[in-house]
Amino acid sequence: MRTWDQEIDLLKKNQLYRSLRTLESAQSPRAIVDGKEVIMLASNNYLGLTTKAEIIQETNKVLQRYGSGSGGSRLTTGNYDLHENLEAEISRFKETEAAVVFNTGYMANIGVLTTVVGKGDLIICDKLNHASIIDACRLSKAKFRVYQHNDLDKLERILQSSSKYQKRLIVTDGVFSMDGDLAPLADIVRLAKKYDALTMIDDAHGTGVLGAGGKGTVNHFDLADRIDIQLGTLSKALGAEGGFVAGTKSLIDLLKNKARPFIYSTALSPVTIEAALAALRYLQDNPQIVKNLWDNINFLKEGLKDLGYSLLPSQSAIVPIVIGDKMRAMAISDELFEQGVLAPAIRPPTVPEGSSRIRVTVMANHSREDLKEALSAFAKVANKFNLRRSR
Ligand SMILES: *Cc1c(COP(=O)(O)O)cnc(C)c1O
Repeated sequence: MRTWDQEIDLLKKNQLYRSLRTLESAQSPRAIVDGKEVIMLASNNYLGLTTKAEIIQETNKVLQRYGSGSGGSRLTTGNYDLHENLEAEISRFKETEAAVVFNTGYMANIGVLTTVVGKGDLIICDKLNHASIIDACRLSKAKFRVYQHNDLDKLERILQSSSKYQKRLIVTDGVFSMDGDLAPLADIVRLAKKYDALTMIDDAHGTGVLGAGGKGTVNHFDLADRIDIQLGTLSKALGAEGGFVAGTKSLIDLLKNKARPFIYSTALSPVTIEAALAALRYLQDNPQIVKNLWDNINFLKEGLKDLGYSLLPSQSAIVPIVIGDKMRAMAISDELFEQGVLAPAIRPPTVPEGSSRIRVTVMANHSREDLKEALSAFAKVANKFNLRRSR
């Protein structure tokens, strides 16, 4: 049997050892990371809402009034008016009958998949779905099958050959978290109707970024009412913490009764709930921040392309720069950090072997100056690593 130290040595040997960077500032366009001021190109805080003065002010009031923790699970003493207000606001925003908040997006995936499917059912997954969906599939006791990324022919073949299952549920990310591209949601819905399957979207990276006023990927494709289960997080563009599921009243009622991560975990604190609620209200009152985000995304992408970087064709705030080799990706990320830019390397097992990348994310509150400075760091690194494509 390997000892823990031997396991760690093995990770190091396979170049898969990970270490944590430490922040000593807010999650802002310029942040203090490992003691150094850097331009933050790695945050999921896409709209810059973690540091928005109006949201902090509202959240402070709740801290003073309700204190620091929730004191119980939702079904005992942890269900506050704030939780209910937030759920009502989410269901309005997502244009569904109802919504329920979980403590994280991860727990929301576990909660919903272990509740709505089980033995005798089939989950059909895109190969690049988020790890929390994969874990949830394993816990659900349903069978699950995987189709190559966005491969609708393969999805249809699975649907054709799986009529023996009681329920079939197609699950896809709306925005894929490591590639930044979108699921072909209209086609997936069409196939689901044709073969009488249910649909679920995890829109962690679409919420606040895509669609009218940042309503998400379902709105972007104009499919309100046509997706059975919509999942999202409060932790990315909304700048707080928590996950949610939105859908029909009966779906949400069932989840509140049966989803174990909802039942057996202390509710998010009123402070966190208010942070999410104030962010959601702020977004609806100030939809132009979504446009600011897109202006920044387009500016940075153009700049990187001009420098000769090869980008995956993303359609979100996630801009992946393909490198290939994991050691090289790590070295490039380290050099960017030296040059004052935080842009992490993403390696296996998070992405397939040979497709290691630098994953850049953009925020609405980056100034042009921030982005220009970042691009000049990228220019130096492109020279040093000979990254210019022959064009
Ligand atoms: C981040 C993410 C999650 C998990 O959400 P947390 O709130 O961070 O637990 C789930 N699904 C996808 C697609 C994600 O990107």
